[in-house]
Amino acid sequence: MRLIILGGPGAGKGTQAQKLCQQLNIPLIGTGDILRQAIIAQTELGQQAQPFVEKGELVPDPTMIEFIRARLLLADAAAGWLLDGYPRTAFQAEELDFLLDDLGQRLNWAIWLEVPEPVLMSRSLARKRPDDQPEIVQRRIDLFYQCTIPIMEYYERRNRLLKINATQPLEKVQQELLEKLHS
Ligand code: AMP
Repeated sequence: MRLIILGGPGAGKGTQAQKLCQQLNIPLIGTGDILRQAIIAQTELGQQAQPFVEKGELVPDPTMIEFIRARLLLADAAAGWLLDGYPRTAFQAEELDFLLDDLGQRLNWAIWLEVPEPVLMSRSLARKRPDDQPEIVQRRIDLFYQCTIPIMEYYERRNRLLKINATQPLEKVQQELLEKLHS
């Protein structure tokens, strides 16, 4: 199964992504974590990405798509994968479709963990991390909507958006997700 996961800060994306990958036996490709590790290891990707990641800016598209292409061609991705953090823009969503066409692969679903904005806010504040103050959280939520709504619309138009009510308890979300993926 080939999947993308989308959800705001506090939507439970990390937990759901990990569980789903275990259940489906597919690799979790989280671009943020991969880039951070590449920077520590100072690989070629890391060196290219570093100045952007350090400023919280998007790494240029050619670097990202080249990385995704190489990653999807690794043996462990042959039977499927779950992308977290890519695509980040509607342009990247389109580039991914071109790449998948080229590789002869097809995306099954873009999963949208739907949580109303006030719940995203209260869950994020409950984590009490240093960067979880109300103004900062609000900014992250605003940016998330700004970037992600066009991606959602992109997949909705192509009937590939799978919406899940993620205000429910984690186990319930997991169960509903698996049911919908297999139906
Ligand atoms: P994250 O942990 O998902 O917030 O990602 C950390 C950083 O990695 C971001 O601030 C970007 O600099 C970079 N990054 C992650 N995914 C992408 C992407 N799809 N396109 C461009 N840059 C990305």
